[in-house]
Amino acid sequence: MLNHSYRSRGLAAWLALAAIVLVPLSAFSQTKIVYHSNKFKLEDDLKLGRQAAQEAERQMPILRDRDATDYVARVGQRLVEAIPAEFQHPEFRYYFKIINASDINAFALPGGPMYLNRGMIEAARNEGEMAGVMAHELSHVALRHGTAQATKAQKYGMFANILGIGGAVLGGPIGTAAQIGAQGVGVYFLKFSREYETEADVLGAQIMARANYDPQDLANMFRTIERVSGGGGGGFTSDHPSPKDRYARINQEAQYLRVTNPIKSTRDFERVQSRLRGMQGAPSTAQIARSGQRYPVEGDGNYPETGGTNTSADIPLGRVSRPSTRYRNYNELSVLRVSAPDNWVEIRDGDSVWFVPEGGFGRLQGQAVFTHGINFGINQSQGSLQQLMNQMINTWLQGNPNMRQVGRATGSNSGRRYWMSTRFRNRNEATNQPEDIALFATQLSNGSVLFISTVVPQNETGEFQDAINRIMNSLQISD
Ligand SMILES: [Zn+2]
Repeated sequence: MLNHSYRSRGLAAWLALAAIVLVPLSAFSQTKIVYHSNKFKLEDDLKLGRQAAQEAERQMPILRDRDATDYVARVGQRLVEAIPAEFQHPEFRYYFKIINASDINAFALPGGPMYLNRGMIEAARNEGEMAGVMAHELSHVALRHGTAQATKAQKYGMFANILGIGGAVLGGPIGTAAQIGAQGVGVYFLKFSREYETEADVLGAQIMARANYDPQDLANMFRTIERVSGGGGGGFTSDHPSPKDRYARINQEAQYLRVTNPIKSTRDFERVQSRLRGMQGAPSTAQIARSGQRYPVEGDGNYPETGGTNTSADIPLGRVSRPSTRYRNYNELSVLRVSAPDNWVEIRDGDSVWFVPEGGFGRLQGQAVFTHGINFGINQSQGSLQQLMNQMINTWLQGNPNMRQVGRATGSNSGRRYWMSTRFRNRNEATNQPEDIALFATQLSNGSVLFISTVVPQNETGEFQDAINRIMNSLQISD
Protein backbone atom coordinates (compact mmCIF):
# COMPACT_ATOMS: atom_id res chain seq x y z
CA MET A 1 0.00 0.00 0.00
CA LEU A 2 2.67 2.41 1.09
CA ASN A 3 4.99 1.27 -1.68
CA HIS A 4 2.62 2.17 -4.48
CA SER A 5 2.13 5.79 -3.69
CA TYR A 6 5.75 6.08 -2.74
CA ARG A 7 7.08 4.97 -6.12
CA SER A 8 4.67 7.06 -8.13
CA ARG A 9 5.87 10.23 -6.51
CA GLY A 10 9.10 10.17 -8.49
CA LEU A 11 12.22 12.20 -8.15
CA ALA A 12 10.72 15.45 -6.94
CA ALA A 13 9.19 13.68 -3.99
CA TRP A 14 12.49 12.05 -3.19
CA LEU A 15 14.20 15.41 -3.17
CA ALA A 16 11.52 16.90 -0.98
CA LEU A 17 11.83 13.96 1.36
CA ALA A 18 15.60 14.37 1.49
CA ALA A 19 15.15 18.03 2.34
CA ILE A 20 12.83 17.19 5.18
CA VAL A 21 15.33 14.76 6.57
CA LEU A 22 18.22 17.19 6.34
CA VAL A 23 16.52 20.21 7.88
CA PRO A 24 15.93 19.62 11.56
CA LEU A 25 12.40 19.13 12.72
CA SER A 26 10.06 22.12 12.56
CA ALA A 27 13.04 24.35 11.93
CA PHE A 28 13.53 26.72 14.85
CA SER A 29 9.95 27.46 15.67
CA GLN A 30 7.07 26.27 17.77
CA THR A 31 4.89 23.52 16.39
CA LYS A 32 1.75 24.84 14.75
CA ILE A 33 -1.31 22.94 15.90
CA VAL A 34 -4.62 22.95 14.06
CA TYR A 35 -8.11 21.74 14.90
CA HIS A 36 -9.39 18.37 13.75
CA SER A 37 -12.61 18.31 11.80
CA ASN A 38 -15.55 18.71 14.13
CA LYS A 39 -19.20 18.79 13.23
CA PHE A 40 -20.35 19.77 16.70
CA LYS A 41 -21.12 23.32 17.76
CA LEU A 42 -19.33 24.93 20.69
CA GLU A 43 -22.58 24.68 22.67
CA ASP A 44 -22.48 20.92 22.14
CA ASP A 45 -19.10 20.74 23.85
CA LEU A 46 -20.60 22.61 26.78
CA LYS A 47 -23.69 20.48 26.96
CA LEU A 48 -21.92 17.14 26.63
CA GLY A 49 -19.23 18.12 29.09
CA ARG A 50 -21.85 19.24 31.59
CA GLN A 51 -23.66 15.90 31.37
CA ALA A 52 -20.45 13.95 31.79
CA ALA A 53 -19.37 16.19 34.69
CA GLN A 54 -22.64 15.55 36.45
CA GLU A 55 -22.18 11.83 36.10
CA ALA A 56 -18.52 12.06 37.17
CA GLU A 57 -19.52 13.82 40.36
CA ARG A 58 -22.07 11.15 41.18
CA GLN A 59 -19.39 8.49 40.87
CA MET A 60 -16.45 10.18 42.51
CA PRO A 61 -16.03 12.02 45.81
CA ILE A 62 -15.28 15.71 45.32
CA LEU A 63 -12.94 17.09 47.96
CA ARG A 64 -14.78 19.96 49.65
CA ASP A 65 -11.84 22.02 50.75
CA ARG A 66 -12.12 25.70 50.02
CA ASP A 67 -8.45 26.63 50.34
CA ALA A 68 -7.17 23.82 48.10
CA THR A 69 -9.95 24.27 45.53
CA ASP A 70 -9.47 28.04 45.32
CA TYR A 71 -5.76 27.57 44.87
CA VAL A 72 -6.16 25.07 42.04
CA ALA A 73 -8.68 27.42 40.41
CA ARG A 74 -6.15 30.28 40.52
CA VAL A 75 -3.51 28.20 38.77
CA GLY A 76 -6.15 27.02 36.29
CA GLN A 77 -7.25 30.56 35.53
CA ARG A 78 -3.69 31.62 34.89
CA LEU A 79 -3.36 28.81 32.34
CA VAL A 80 -6.73 29.53 30.72
CA GLU A 81 -5.64 33.11 30.10
CA ALA A 82 -2.49 31.79 28.45
CA ILE A 83 -4.32 29.68 25.85
CA PRO A 84 -3.32 31.04 22.41
CA ALA A 85 -5.99 33.27 20.85
CA GLU A 86 -6.95 30.81 18.11
CA PHE A 87 -7.92 28.23 20.73
CA GLN A 88 -9.73 30.57 23.11
CA HIS A 89 -13.45 29.91 23.39
CA PRO A 90 -15.08 32.58 25.54
CA GLU A 91 -18.22 30.38 25.59
CA PHE A 92 -16.43 27.65 27.50
CA ARG A 93 -16.81 27.45 31.26
CA TYR A 94 -13.53 26.35 32.75
CA TYR A 95 -13.64 25.22 36.33
CA PHE A 96 -11.46 23.04 38.52
CA LYS A 97 -12.30 20.53 41.23
CA ILE A 98 -10.29 18.09 43.32
CA ILE A 99 -11.30 14.44 43.58
CA ASN A 100 -10.50 12.74 46.85
CA ALA A 101 -8.63 9.86 45.21
CA SER A 102 -5.06 8.75 45.85
CA ASP A 103 -3.86 7.81 42.37
CA ILE A 104 -2.05 10.31 40.19
CA ASN A 105 -4.62 11.35 37.66
CA ALA A 106 -6.55 14.22 36.17
CA PHE A 107 -9.09 14.63 33.42
CA ALA A 108 -11.01 17.37 31.69
CA LEU A 109 -14.32 17.28 29.86
CA PRO A 110 -15.54 19.13 26.76
CA GLY A 111 -16.40 22.76 27.39
CA GLY A 112 -14.21 23.14 30.46
CA PRO A 113 -14.78 21.02 33.61
CA MET A 114 -11.48 19.74 34.99
CA TYR A 115 -10.90 17.24 37.79
CA LEU A 116 -7.59 16.74 39.56
CA ASN A 117 -6.97 13.82 41.88
CA ARG A 118 -5.70 14.74 45.29
CA GLY A 119 -2.94 12.15 44.73
CA MET A 120 -1.68 14.12 41.75
CA ILE A 121 -1.29 17.32 43.74
CA GLU A 122 0.37 15.43 46.59
CA ALA A 123 2.88 13.81 44.21
CA ALA A 124 3.88 16.89 42.17
CA ARG A 125 7.31 18.22 43.11
CA ASN A 126 6.33 21.83 42.57
CA GLU A 127 3.56 24.03 41.22
CA GLY A 128 5.08 23.78 37.73
CA GLU A 129 4.53 20.02 37.59
CA MET A 130 0.94 20.33 38.75
CA ALA A 131 0.37 23.12 36.22
CA GLY A 132 1.89 20.88 33.54
CA VAL A 133 -0.79 18.24 33.97
CA MET A 134 -3.44 20.97 34.01
CA ALA A 135 -2.07 22.59 30.83
CA HIS A 136 -2.15 19.21 29.09
CA GLU A 137 -5.77 18.60 30.09
CA LEU A 138 -6.74 22.16 29.21
CA SER A 139 -5.30 21.61 25.75
CA HIS A 140 -7.63 18.66 25.12
CA VAL A 141 -10.54 20.97 25.94
CA ALA A 142 -9.31 23.96 23.91
CA LEU A 143 -8.59 21.74 20.90
CA ARG A 144 -12.07 20.20 21.29
CA HIS A 145 -10.66 16.69 21.20
CA GLY A 146 -13.77 15.13 22.77
CA THR A 147 -16.17 16.22 20.07
CA ALA A 148 -13.54 15.79 17.33
CA GLN A 149 -13.34 12.17 18.38
CA ALA A 150 -17.11 11.88 18.45
CA THR A 151 -17.23 13.33 14.94
CA LYS A 152 -15.00 10.51 13.78
CA ALA A 153 -16.98 7.88 15.66
CA GLN A 154 -20.29 9.05 14.26
CA LYS A 155 -19.08 8.37 10.76
CA TYR A 156 -18.87 4.71 11.61
CA GLY A 157 -21.54 3.74 14.01
CA MET A 158 -24.65 4.47 15.88
CA PHE A 159 -22.88 4.80 19.17
CA ALA A 160 -23.63 8.46 19.60
CA ASN A 161 -27.27 8.13 18.66
CA ILE A 162 -28.08 5.04 20.61
CA LEU A 163 -26.21 5.52 23.82
CA GLY A 164 -26.11 9.29 23.89
CA ILE A 165 -22.64 10.71 24.00
CA GLY A 166 -22.84 12.65 27.24
CA GLY A 167 -23.15 10.07 29.93
CA ALA A 168 -22.30 7.13 27.79
CA VAL A 169 -19.64 4.75 28.77
CA LEU A 170 -18.62 1.75 26.82
CA GLY A 171 -17.46 -1.16 28.81
CA GLY A 172 -20.06 -1.48 31.50
CA PRO A 173 -19.69 -4.53 33.61
CA ILE A 174 -16.97 -6.14 31.57
CA GLY A 175 -15.31 -3.32 29.75
CA THR A 176 -12.16 -1.39 30.35
CA ALA A 177 -14.08 1.47 31.87
CA ALA A 178 -12.94 0.91 35.41
CA GLN A 179 -9.38 1.59 34.36
CA ILE A 180 -10.04 5.22 33.95
CA GLY A 181 -12.49 6.98 36.18
CA ALA A 182 -14.56 5.48 38.89
CA GLN A 183 -16.84 3.20 36.93
CA GLY A 184 -15.52 4.85 33.85
CA VAL A 185 -17.60 7.94 33.52
CA GLY A 186 -17.00 9.91 30.40
CA VAL A 187 -14.40 7.43 29.28
CA TYR A 188 -15.48 8.42 25.87
CA PHE A 189 -13.90 11.79 26.41
CA LEU A 190 -10.85 10.57 28.24
CA LYS A 191 -9.27 8.07 25.97
CA PHE A 192 -7.59 9.74 23.05
CA SER A 193 -5.32 8.56 20.28
CA ARG A 194 -1.60 9.13 20.51
CA GLU A 195 -1.90 11.88 17.96
CA TYR A 196 -4.30 13.80 20.22
CA GLU A 197 -2.10 13.14 23.24
CA THR A 198 0.95 14.54 21.48
CA GLU A 199 -0.99 17.62 20.45
CA ALA A 200 -2.10 18.16 24.04
CA ASP A 201 1.51 17.80 25.18
CA VAL A 202 2.78 20.30 22.62
CA LEU A 203 0.04 22.88 23.14
CA GLY A 204 0.33 22.24 26.88
CA ALA A 205 4.04 23.14 26.71
CA GLN A 206 3.20 26.32 24.79
CA ILE A 207 0.53 27.31 27.32
CA MET A 208 2.97 26.65 30.15
CA ALA A 209 5.52 29.02 28.65
CA ARG A 210 2.92 31.71 28.01
CA ALA A 211 1.82 31.45 31.65
CA ASN A 212 5.46 31.80 32.77
CA TYR A 213 5.92 28.19 33.80
CA ASP A 214 8.82 26.05 32.64
CA PRO A 215 7.38 23.77 29.90
CA GLN A 216 9.87 21.10 30.92
CA ASP A 217 7.91 20.72 34.14
CA LEU A 218 5.21 18.99 32.09
CA ALA A 219 7.85 16.47 31.01
CA ASN A 220 9.23 16.30 34.55
CA MET A 221 5.81 15.29 35.82
CA PHE A 222 6.12 12.03 33.86
CA ARG A 223 9.34 11.30 35.76
CA THR A 224 7.58 12.07 39.03
CA ILE A 225 4.75 9.73 38.08
CA GLU A 226 7.22 6.96 37.26
CA ARG A 227 9.06 7.54 40.51
CA VAL A 228 5.89 7.43 42.59
CA SER A 229 4.16 4.57 40.82
CA GLY A 230 7.38 2.61 40.38
CA GLY A 231 6.96 2.58 36.62
CA GLY A 232 3.82 0.51 37.00
CA GLY A 233 2.01 3.50 35.64
CA GLY A 234 -1.52 3.55 36.93
CA GLY A 235 -3.58 6.67 36.51
CA PHE A 236 -2.36 9.40 34.25
CA THR A 237 0.12 7.26 32.32
CA SER A 238 -2.35 4.46 31.72
CA ASP A 239 -4.81 6.92 30.20
CA HIS A 240 -1.98 8.45 28.26
CA PRO A 241 0.17 6.02 26.27
CA SER A 242 3.97 5.78 25.91
CA PRO A 243 5.32 8.22 28.51
CA LYS A 244 8.93 7.73 27.43
CA ASP A 245 8.63 9.25 23.97
CA ARG A 246 6.61 12.03 25.44
CA TYR A 247 9.23 13.77 27.45
CA ALA A 248 11.54 13.80 24.48
CA ARG A 249 8.82 15.49 22.41
CA ILE A 250 7.97 18.02 25.12
CA ASN A 251 11.60 18.87 25.73
CA GLN A 252 12.07 19.31 22.00
CA GLU A 253 9.21 21.82 21.96
CA ALA A 254 10.61 23.50 25.06
CA GLN A 255 13.73 24.51 23.11
CA TYR A 256 11.64 26.99 21.17
CA LEU A 257 9.87 28.40 24.20
CA ARG A 258 11.72 31.08 26.13
CA VAL A 259 10.79 31.53 29.74
CA THR A 260 12.88 33.71 31.98
CA ASN A 261 12.62 33.08 35.66
CA PRO A 262 9.74 30.56 35.48
CA ILE A 263 7.42 29.83 38.39
CA LYS A 264 8.58 26.65 40.09
CA SER A 265 7.31 26.27 43.59
CA THR A 266 5.14 28.75 45.42
CA ARG A 267 4.13 29.23 49.02
CA ASP A 268 0.53 28.52 48.08
CA PHE A 269 1.53 25.21 46.52
CA GLU A 270 3.54 24.14 49.54
CA ARG A 271 0.78 25.13 51.95
CA VAL A 272 -1.93 23.31 50.00
CA GLN A 273 0.22 20.25 49.39
CA SER A 274 1.06 19.81 53.06
CA ARG A 275 -2.56 20.41 53.94
CA LEU A 276 -3.65 17.59 51.59
CA ARG A 277 -0.88 15.29 52.77
CA GLY A 278 -2.02 15.84 56.34
CA MET A 279 -5.57 14.71 55.64
CA GLN A 280 -6.85 11.22 56.17
CA GLY A 281 -5.67 8.96 53.32
CA ALA A 282 -7.79 9.02 50.17
CA PRO A 283 -9.15 5.85 48.58
CA SER A 284 -7.83 4.73 45.19
CA THR A 285 -9.99 5.02 42.10
CA ALA A 286 -10.35 1.23 42.05
CA GLN A 287 -11.58 1.25 45.65
CA ILE A 288 -14.07 4.00 44.81
CA ALA A 289 -15.29 2.00 41.83
CA ARG A 290 -15.61 -1.18 43.90
CA SER A 291 -17.61 0.55 46.59
CA GLY A 292 -20.22 1.42 43.97
CA GLN A 293 -21.18 4.44 46.05
CA ARG A 294 -23.15 7.27 44.46
CA TYR A 295 -22.44 10.82 45.56
CA PRO A 296 -24.91 13.68 45.65
CA VAL A 297 -24.17 16.41 43.14
CA GLU A 298 -24.06 19.74 44.91
CA GLY A 299 -24.98 23.01 43.32
CA ASP A 300 -21.90 24.99 42.42
CA GLY A 301 -21.57 28.73 42.13
CA ASN A 302 -19.08 28.33 39.32
CA TYR A 303 -21.39 26.26 37.28
CA PRO A 304 -25.04 26.75 38.13
CA GLU A 305 -26.27 24.40 35.43
CA THR A 306 -24.69 21.43 37.19
CA GLY A 307 -26.90 19.52 39.55
CA GLY A 308 -30.10 19.70 37.55
CA THR A 309 -32.01 16.84 36.09
CA ASN A 310 -30.49 13.57 35.11
CA THR A 311 -29.92 13.98 31.40
CA SER A 312 -28.49 10.57 30.65
CA ALA A 313 -31.72 8.62 30.56
CA ASP A 314 -31.70 4.89 31.14
CA ILE A 315 -31.98 2.60 28.17
CA PRO A 316 -33.53 -0.67 29.29
CA LEU A 317 -32.17 -4.02 28.27
CA GLY A 318 -34.70 -5.78 26.10
CA ARG A 319 -35.70 -9.12 24.73
CA VAL A 320 -32.88 -10.46 22.65
CA SER A 321 -33.88 -12.22 19.46
CA ARG A 322 -31.93 -15.21 18.21
CA PRO A 323 -28.94 -14.44 16.04
CA SER A 324 -29.68 -14.26 12.35
CA THR A 325 -28.02 -16.91 10.22
CA ARG A 326 -27.19 -14.27 7.64
CA TYR A 327 -23.85 -12.61 8.31
CA ARG A 328 -22.51 -9.25 7.28
CA ASN A 329 -18.80 -8.39 6.77
CA TYR A 330 -17.07 -5.55 8.53
CA ASN A 331 -13.63 -3.96 8.36
CA GLU A 332 -12.62 -2.78 11.81
CA LEU A 333 -9.79 -1.00 13.59
CA SER A 334 -7.68 -0.86 10.39
CA VAL A 335 -6.50 -4.48 10.66
CA LEU A 336 -9.57 -6.67 11.20
CA ARG A 337 -12.06 -8.31 8.88
CA VAL A 338 -14.92 -9.99 10.64
CA SER A 339 -18.49 -11.18 10.02
CA ALA A 340 -21.40 -10.79 12.42
CA PRO A 341 -25.11 -11.71 12.32
CA ASP A 342 -26.96 -9.10 10.29
CA ASN A 343 -29.43 -8.41 13.12
CA TRP A 344 -26.61 -7.38 15.46
CA VAL A 345 -25.55 -3.78 15.98
CA GLU A 346 -22.03 -2.48 15.52
CA ILE A 347 -20.97 0.04 18.19
CA ARG A 348 -17.65 1.74 17.74
CA ASP A 349 -15.70 3.68 20.30
CA GLY A 350 -12.18 4.76 19.43
CA ASP A 351 -9.94 1.69 19.46
CA SER A 352 -12.78 -0.63 20.31
CA VAL A 353 -15.84 -2.10 18.60
CA TRP A 354 -18.76 -4.15 19.89
CA PHE A 355 -21.15 -6.42 18.02
CA VAL A 356 -24.28 -6.91 20.06
CA PRO A 357 -27.84 -8.11 19.46
CA GLU A 358 -30.54 -5.50 19.97
CA GLY A 359 -31.83 -5.73 23.50
CA GLY A 360 -28.46 -7.11 24.58
CA PHE A 361 -27.15 -3.72 25.57
CA GLY A 362 -28.52 -0.75 27.42
CA ARG A 363 -27.69 1.96 29.88
CA LEU A 364 -28.36 2.00 33.57
CA GLN A 365 -27.49 4.95 35.77
CA GLY A 366 -25.17 6.27 33.13
CA GLN A 367 -23.33 2.99 32.69
CA ALA A 368 -23.43 0.98 29.51
CA VAL A 369 -24.40 -2.62 30.11
CA PHE A 370 -23.94 -5.58 27.79
CA THR A 371 -25.50 -8.98 28.29
CA HIS A 372 -24.64 -10.61 24.95
CA GLY A 373 -21.94 -9.84 22.45
CA ILE A 374 -18.35 -9.61 21.41
CA ASN A 375 -15.84 -6.80 21.70
CA PHE A 376 -12.64 -6.20 19.77
CA GLY A 377 -10.24 -3.68 21.24
CA ILE A 378 -6.70 -2.63 20.51
CA ASN A 379 -4.51 -1.67 23.44
CA GLN A 380 -1.64 0.59 22.42
CA SER A 381 0.19 0.44 25.76
CA GLN A 382 3.78 -0.67 25.91
CA GLY A 383 4.36 -4.13 27.26
CA SER A 384 4.51 -7.81 26.46
CA LEU A 385 1.39 -9.82 25.66
CA GLN A 386 1.64 -11.49 29.04
CA GLN A 387 1.97 -8.19 30.92
CA LEU A 388 -0.95 -6.54 29.16
CA MET A 389 -3.09 -9.64 29.57
CA ASN A 390 -2.39 -9.72 33.30
CA GLN A 391 -3.10 -6.02 33.56
CA MET A 392 -6.44 -6.48 31.84
CA ILE A 393 -7.42 -9.41 34.04
CA ASN A 394 -6.54 -7.49 37.20
CA THR A 395 -8.44 -4.44 36.08
CA TRP A 396 -11.55 -6.48 35.40
CA LEU A 397 -11.38 -8.34 38.68
CA GLN A 398 -10.82 -5.12 40.62
CA GLY A 399 -13.66 -3.32 38.90
CA ASN A 400 -16.19 -6.16 39.05
CA PRO A 401 -16.69 -7.62 42.51
CA ASN A 402 -18.93 -10.41 41.16
CA MET A 403 -16.40 -11.63 38.69
CA ARG A 404 -14.27 -14.77 39.17
CA GLN A 405 -11.57 -16.05 36.90
CA VAL A 406 -12.02 -19.71 35.89
CA GLY A 407 -8.59 -21.32 35.63
CA ARG A 408 -5.47 -19.48 34.60
CA ALA A 409 -4.62 -17.66 31.41
CA THR A 410 -3.07 -20.08 28.95
CA GLY A 411 -1.31 -19.69 25.63
CA SER A 412 -1.69 -21.56 22.34
CA ASN A 413 -0.98 -21.22 18.65
CA SER A 414 -3.85 -20.80 16.28
CA GLY A 415 -3.79 -19.59 12.70
CA ARG A 416 -0.04 -18.89 12.85
CA ARG A 417 -0.55 -16.61 15.85
CA TYR A 418 0.11 -16.97 19.50
CA TRP A 419 -2.99 -16.31 21.60
CA MET A 420 -3.54 -16.07 25.32
CA SER A 421 -6.97 -16.76 26.69
CA THR A 422 -8.86 -17.10 29.93
CA ARG A 423 -12.44 -17.40 31.15
CA PHE A 424 -14.54 -15.77 33.84
CA ARG A 425 -17.82 -16.26 35.61
CA ASN A 426 -19.71 -13.09 36.42
CA ARG A 427 -23.04 -12.04 37.77
CA ASN A 428 -24.28 -9.25 35.52
CA GLU A 429 -24.80 -6.09 37.54
CA ALA A 430 -27.90 -5.11 35.62
CA THR A 431 -29.74 -8.41 35.20
CA ASN A 432 -28.25 -10.27 38.15
CA GLN A 433 -27.94 -13.28 35.82
CA PRO A 434 -24.82 -15.43 35.79
CA GLU A 435 -22.80 -15.06 32.61
CA ASP A 436 -19.75 -16.57 30.93
CA ILE A 437 -17.04 -14.23 29.78
CA ALA A 438 -14.00 -15.11 27.69
CA LEU A 439 -10.96 -13.01 27.00
CA PHE A 440 -8.47 -13.58 24.18
CA ALA A 441 -5.38 -11.59 23.30
CA THR A 442 -2.72 -11.60 20.61
CA GLN A 443 0.11 -9.21 19.87
CA LEU A 444 0.05 -7.38 16.54
CA SER A 445 3.18 -6.73 14.50
CA ASN A 446 3.32 -3.09 15.64
CA GLY A 447 3.48 -4.20 19.27
CA SER A 448 -0.06 -3.28 20.24
CA VAL A 449 -2.32 -6.00 21.59
CA LEU A 450 -5.67 -7.07 20.18
CA PHE A 451 -8.11 -8.07 22.91
CA ILE A 452 -11.30 -9.95 22.17
CA SER A 453 -13.89 -10.40 24.87
CA THR A 454 -17.20 -12.23 24.66
CA VAL A 455 -20.15 -12.35 27.01
CA VAL A 456 -23.06 -14.80 26.99
CA PRO A 457 -25.63 -15.48 29.74
CA GLN A 458 -25.13 -18.94 31.20
CA ASN A 459 -28.67 -20.06 30.46
CA GLU A 460 -28.46 -19.06 26.80
CA THR A 461 -25.13 -20.51 25.77
CA GLY A 462 -26.41 -22.61 22.83
CA GLU A 463 -27.11 -20.43 19.82
CA PHE A 464 -25.40 -17.31 21.14
CA GLN A 465 -22.22 -19.21 21.80
CA ASP A 466 -22.48 -20.65 18.28
CA ALA A 467 -22.84 -17.15 16.84
CA ILE A 468 -19.84 -15.94 18.79
CA ASN A 469 -17.77 -18.92 17.67
CA ARG A 470 -18.75 -18.20 14.09
CA ILE A 471 -17.70 -14.54 14.48
CA MET A 472 -14.39 -15.62 15.98
CA ASN A 473 -13.80 -18.08 13.15
CA SER A 474 -14.48 -15.39 10.56
CA LEU A 475 -11.78 -13.16 11.98
CA GLN A 476 -8.92 -12.20 9.68
CA ILE A 477 -6.09 -10.03 10.94
CA SER A 478 -3.86 -8.20 8.47
CA ASP A 479 -1.20 -6.46 10.49
ZN1 LIG B 1 -4.31 13.47 27.55
